[in-house]
Amino acid sequence: MATYAGRFLESMDERPVDASTDRDELRRRLGGTLAEQPTEPGVVLRELIAAAEDGIVASGAGRFFGFVVGGSLPAAVGADWLATTWDQNAGLFILSPAASVVEEVAAEWIKQLLGLPTEASVGFVTGCQMAHFTCLAAARYHVLAQVGWDVEQRGLASSPQVRVLAGRQRHVTIDRALRFLGLGTDSLELIDVDGQGRMLPRRLSDALQGTPVPTIVCAQAGEVNTGAFDPIAEICQVAHGAGAWVHVDGAFGIWAAASARLRHLVVGLEQADSWATDCHKWLNVPYDSGLAICAHPESHRAAMTAHAAYLIRAESEQPRDEVDWVPEFSRRARGFAVYAGLRSLGRAGLAAMVEGCSDHASRMAARLAEDPEIEILNDVHLNQVLFRVRGADGDGRTQTLAQRVRDGGVCWLSGTSWEGRPAVRVSVTSWRTTAADVDHSAASILAAARP
Ligand SMILES: *Cc1c(COP(=O)(O)O)cnc(C)c1O
Repeated sequence: MATYAGRFLESMDERPVDASTDRDELRRRLGGTLAEQPTEPGVVLRELIAAAEDGIVASGAGRFFGFVVGGSLPAAVGADWLATTWDQNAGLFILSPAASVVEEVAAEWIKQLLGLPTEASVGFVTGCQMAHFTCLAAARYHVLAQVGWDVEQRGLASSPQVRVLAGRQRHVTIDRALRFLGLGTDSLELIDVDGQGRMLPRRLSDALQGTPVPTIVCAQAGEVNTGAFDPIAEICQVAHGAGAWVHVDGAFGIWAAASARLRHLVVGLEQADSWATDCHKWLNVPYDSGLAICAHPESHRAAMTAHAAYLIRAESEQPRDEVDWVPEFSRRARGFAVYAGLRSLGRAGLAAMVEGCSDHASRMAARLAEDPEIEILNDVHLNQVLFRVRGADGDGRTQTLAQRVRDGGVCWLSGTSWEGRPAVRVSVTSWRTTAADVDHSAASILAAARP
């Protein structure tokens, strides 16, 4: 497996980016009844590779620009293999002291890199979805505790109402977290946004007039199509003035804070009450890896701890049991990969990766814009490029463009819709992407866009 994995990773940029087989063929190769008798492990693995390999999308490759995905740094891949090899249960310190301490250290580094309060608590979760769930659970506990309601004990069935406000262009995982938390999507009030998807703080201020009730405001650092940032400083000022909790969805965009050049995009970030982000996107750590960061450790812990919420222990108490900060009980030691990825980059390397991806996005936008039929729809200031095809049947051609590009085999894009019309986006999120990848890909996109 080590030999195979090395070959696969080395050949990543020569492999076709897209999968080249379909579901029926995969079912035929992988399906059938489970044999009564054992199969030798080496045979199982060889046959799995042979059957699955052309159903693999090279999403870690330099010319993969779909969704917002990210590759995997070599040190992070290696550390992830260690996590599997060591097979630690990283729920309790006693079950893996090393896994616990590695998370503590990586959490300290990340708070420094992102300029977040040193006393904030951090849970290493599976992704930004679960980071929202965790942070919003802490928020739900906190805003209800302020009006004398212990939601951990008494639940929501007859609790005071909780309002949740978010921009119209919030990510769908916010709505889903509210469902998981029993707040329901009806608790969500949508605030108007500008043409880049940024929440309008004046509208938020209007919505917050009146008698304060327990309220959570969800801001966004990095909209999935445009890469736009809500004005976090203004949002915090308005929301805190009304006694609300501010949660930031910074799945990928929060990493702008690690760059001196891009940090201006997240002004006020440190004033929020909680932050959700991913390590498996822009930090280039293997799946699955996200972070729930909370400025109120006692609320974070009260919402997550497996002990009773009233047995709150001092935050300074060591050692750190991971179970207190995440929804999982038994769990993978995913901190090793985060730690190794950060160390292999160093502070300068992380900034260079974030800036490099953003420069590649600008280069991509410039290449695409050389064709007068391409309309760039966003201000390209981060790693996202959003565009459409103009001219005769522009919407129709835009609608099918991502598939035609994938069929071309050079790069991988995904479609979206922007202001009710089809659009295509490019997300540059991999450490592997080079200027040559961008030029090669832009040429293939322009060729596919021609009528
Ligand atoms: C990807 C993304 C999420 C969800 O993150 P997962 O890691 O897929 O759970 C949430 N918000 C934004 C802005 C995203 O880009």
